[in-house]
Amino acid sequence: MVQKKDIIKAAKEAGFEDVGFTTARPFEDHAKLLATMEDEYAWTNDVGLDLHNGVDPRTILPEAKTIIVLMETYFLKSYPKTMESHFGRCYLDDDRVTKDGLYLRIKKFRSFLRDNGIDSKVPFNLPHRVAAARAGMGGFGKNCLFYSNKVVRGGSWTLPIAVVIDKEFTPGTPTIGINCPDWCKNTCIAACPTRALKGNGRIDPRKCISYLTYFGEGITPKELREPMGLYIYGCDRCQNVCPRNQPWLAKELPINDKVVAKAKDFDLCLLLHMDKNYFNAKIWPHMFYMSDKNLWRWKMNVARVMGNSLDPFYLPDLVRAFNENSDERVKAMIAWAMGHIGGEYGLSALKKIKPGATGLVKEELEDAMKVCAGI
Ligand code: SF4
Ligand code: SF4
Repeated sequence: MVQKKDIIKAAKEAGFEDVGFTTARPFEDHAKLLATMEDEYAWTNDVGLDLHNGVDPRTILPEAKTIIVLMETYFLKSYPKTMESHFGRCYLDDDRVTKDGLYLRIKKFRSFLRDNGIDSKVPFNLPHRVAAARAGMGGFGKNCLFYSNKVVRGGSWTLPIAVVIDKEFTPGTPTIGINCPDWCKNTCIAACPTRALKGNGRIDPRKCISYLTYFGEGITPKELREPMGLYIYGCDRCQNVCPRNQPWLAKELPINDKVVAKAKDFDLCLLLHMDKNYFNAKIWPHMFYMSDKNLWRWKMNVARVMGNSLDPFYLPDLVRAFNENSDERVKAMIAWAMGHIGGEYGLSALKKIKPGATGLVKEELEDAMKVCAGI
């Protein structure tokens, strides 16, 4: 019969630096928490994330006895500045569609389990961070992220993967709880530009920039455009400012060549003008929370980022994109971006816009003109 040490060895051979074990009993406290946050998490049902079912591993594997937690770290290599300034790091080398990295390592590990007579499932809706804490692998920050006690120098650049199995193994001692140092005066909460962090270890996901960039409805409200800054997809701000992450951020890391190779495809001007073919071939396989039906949201986000860059370099592309787009959310954001870049360059770009705008677009163009004219 396979021993715990054999499983740990197999997990490490598959590239996981830390491995933990917890029982497959339901996550009752998590179920209670979800029940108090029905409104905040209602959107998860719309995108097919059935969080309620994930709280009982036996709904996923009826014979479930143990959860093995594999600690993946998504920031072992560094990313080009052009990429990590605009995209959350956890999405930069995400292989859930391409299945050419992490997927293969999980597959290798599960093959080992299967060869040893152990059935396994890797559910996407199980509370994997809570499972990791219950396995004694770390705890939480007030930014609601999981901080490892072994990898990435105690930081939060982690993606715990919960593997539910049908054999019993001795569980680790739980380390559930928020373990931020007293001297950190809630830096993450103060730094969150959209006030998504509530201060009690809870987050309103609907206010988080990550959610807003890929699921936000309609044009981004004016009051959020500057706070959402330079992020197009995801946000790492509450991790970047966290003192618990500084030891890892200070480390010299080798560059991630895979991400370097695709960075050219994520050039802001290419994203602003992309069509469905380009999107489906170059972008969607890596960042897939939005389908090509939501190309407008990608372009709106890019226009906002160009505006927030304050760089007149983008003005000719913004003018061209305004004239080639029919979606009023994109056009209105382009108008805002030109006004936000402002000054004589912004004004001259606004004058190149074809006349005839109506409604929201007309309003945004008029506002942008006023901003450029200093009114
Ligand atoms: S990811 Fe960004 S928006 Fe979301 S909680 Fe953290 S700082 Fe706030
Ligand atoms: S910034 Fe401070 S309060 Fe927030 S997670 Fe980090 S240590 Fe905790």
